[in-house]
Formats: sequence, C-alpha cells, structure tokens
Amino acid sequence: MENFKKYISETNNFPTEGIVFKDINPIYKEPKIWNELMLPLQELISKKTPDYIAGIESRGFISASALAFKLEIGFIPIRKPNKLPGKVKGIDYKLEYGEDRLEIQQNSIEKDSKVIVIDDLLATGGTAAAAGKLIREAGGTLLGYAFLVELTQLKGRNNLDSNLFVESLIKY
Ligand code: AMP
Repeated sequence: MENFKKYISETNNFPTEGIVFKDINPIYKEPKIWNELMLPLQELISKKTPDYIAGIESRGFISASALAFKLEIGFIPIRKPNKLPGKVKGIDYKLEYGEDRLEIQQNSIEKDSKVIVIDDLLATGGTAAAAGKLIREAGGTLLGYAFLVELTQLKGRNNLDSNLFVESLIKY
C-alpha cells in the first residue's frame, strides 16, 4: 500500500493551523489506481455480507457510495446537521480540528440490519465513533469500519469498539 502514497498530497495548516491535511483526491482522478486500492476492501466487505454501507459526509461519500454501488448493497448517508429531511437522530462529537455534529434519518435502517461505516480517513476516531453510535441508535447492527487512510499516531482505533473490525488501507 506504500506505493499509493505518491497519490496523496499533503497541505500544511489546512483547514486550521497545525493540521497536515491528506488530500486523496488525486487517487479518485486515476480510476485504475482507485480500483486497485479499493479491491482488498471490496473483498473484505463482500465477505462480511452487510446489508448497508454507511458513508460519512462528505469525503466519506465518495468511496462508500462507489463500493455500495459495485457490491449492490444499499447506501446510507450520515450527514452534517440540517441536511436530511424528516425525523433525524443526531450526535455531537469532537474532531481533530474543532467540533461537529452528524445526523442520520431515523427510519433509514430496518432493525438489526448489518451496517459497515466507511470514511476517507481515520484520525482521532471521533467522527467514526459518532457515526457508529448513530447506526446503533437507529437500530442497526454495526459490523465494523473501513477507511482509505489511517493516521496511526493519533490512535483513533482506540476510540472504536474493539469487538468490531477496523480496516484501513494506507497507514501513516
Ligand atoms: P477524526 O474524527 O479525528 O477521526 O477525523 C476524521 C475526519 O476528519 C474524516 O472525515 C476526515 O475526512 C477528516 N480529517 C481529519 N484529519 C484529517 C487530515 N489530517 N487530513 C484529511 N482529512 C482529515
């Protein structure tokens, strides 16, 4: 997976001071590279037989929806506040930079449906932990998490349920 790092650019102090932002857009621009990167994840997810893939707004939507479409599994959006119509469940959480809130539509998951949460990057784990909590509150069974990139020094995994699988493709 090391060879994919040349497709990830770094921007210092973005979006706030002290953050080294990993930009994975160059991967999405190269379909063969993106496909090659995602293949192990596709196989793993297929073996877990989830009913749904949940993607976290907004960068998480890209690979989550691509995988859901390819595997013919339903896609559930976990969104920033005030974007979803109807009744929603929400959760406030801390980010590597600042604070945020995520929401899910209350009736988006049939009880005990198996769900995998996907985001582009695992940093402190706050976002993913919040998303997982929402899935459970909405009645789903959380199978695990998958990320394209993991910033291992931030130990985000420690914030995620240790009984679940946590898969990341490119580790820094
Ligand atoms: P965290 O909740 O700290 O695990 O942060 C993960 C979320 O923030 C993901 O949705 C990422 O898109 C974004 N994020 C956090 N840190 C970075 C970073 N250094 N580079 C790019 N995205 C980041």
